[in-house]
Amino acid sequence: MPVEFADRMKNIKGSEIRELLKLTENPEVISFAGGLPAPELFPIEEMKKVSVAVLEEEGRAALQYSTTEGHGPLREKIAQRMNDKLKTNISKVDILITNGSQQGLDFAGKIFINKGDVILCESPSYLGAINAFNSYQPKYIEVPTDENGMIMEALEEILEKTKNVKMIYVIPDFQNPTGRTWSLERRKKFIEIINKYEIPAIEDNPYVELRFDEGFLPCLKALDTKGLIIYLGSFSKIFCPGYRLGWTCASPEILSKFIIVKQGADLQASTISQREVNKFMEMYDLDAHVEKIKSVYKVRRDLMLKTLEEELPEGVKFTRPSGGLFTWLELPENIDASELLKKCLENNVAYVSGEAFFPNGGKYNCFRMNYSTMTEDKIVEGIKRLAIALKEFM
Ligand code: PMP
Repeated sequence: MPVEFADRMKNIKGSEIRELLKLTENPEVISFAGGLPAPELFPIEEMKKVSVAVLEEEGRAALQYSTTEGHGPLREKIAQRMNDKLKTNISKVDILITNGSQQGLDFAGKIFINKGDVILCESPSYLGAINAFNSYQPKYIEVPTDENGMIMEALEEILEKTKNVKMIYVIPDFQNPTGRTWSLERRKKFIEIINKYEIPAIEDNPYVELRFDEGFLPCLKALDTKGLIIYLGSFSKIFCPGYRLGWTCASPEILSKFIIVKQGADLQASTISQREVNKFMEMYDLDAHVEKIKSVYKVRRDLMLKTLEEELPEGVKFTRPSGGLFTWLELPENIDASELLKKCLENNVAYVSGEAFFPNGGKYNCFRMNYSTMTEDKIVEGIKRLAIALKEFM
């Protein structure tokens, strides 16, 4: 007898990114596909000392179960960091530690979405979030975007005529996949709009600290006046993704739901991971580490944009991100980026084609390129291979 699966599984498919990451195992392939931090920047020597210190000083606690909310001193440091850098006004009690910010996305779907409810998101949006939300069988309405982020007139128009919108999902800083950042004006307008309609919004912000250029902006949570913003933060891009530590920051009413759901999902984030990251922040300077990451990524971003400019044929547009890990390319309308990808793979270069970033599909001429993982010589060589494939294709 065939096994019968739950209805929700119909909407769930494997992530194209995960599949593509398998290709990067072939050393011949220059891959701009993943969103991986540069591994040569991981503080391995420091973490050897940190893990010994944790085990010697607090070994029993570190290997024990601990509270669902997370390790107090770590939550305190996160709150302090958000207040200093993002101009929020929060404290430790507003923070829940999660297993990466990805878990916060899954929980948001679980908490807010009944089957058939509407999620609004940027068009395009983060593929991993779409995959997480799909379990809860939502409908998506994609809100148009431009170089300054989500277009607020479009958002308002959609809200005006749509019932059942339960949540808005946004990435205001160095968006995945486009690398774009919302202007201050849009941020303020967004808060005005969600306040009017009283709809919770997920501010997914793993890249915010990776700003290479001038022009700091407050996060949406800092502008939030009605407690509608649910902020998701992460150590993955400012430290290391392997510890799988992220956090959710929300109003007490909303955070209490996340805490209950966390208990049911996995009880707590890894005690030892939390204590090790906390100890790193005590023994070393995380800000200095972030500066080091930024200085390497900035060089790679500059080189990628310069090489794209030099190598790509006319008619191909790309974004110029001020931070984060990605640029987004738009081909002439008649070119399908997933067809081009096949050609690129023959030339041993990879990217993620754009269609999967549109939850309702239907857009084929875009793709995302990552500049954090590949070294400088590979960035140049990879773009040359891409340009050859593209010219043959066009
Ligand atoms: N949100 C966005 C926009 C991302 O790009 C990512 C990772 N690529 C995540 C969330 C998940 O990150 P993590 O679970 O490692 O914190």
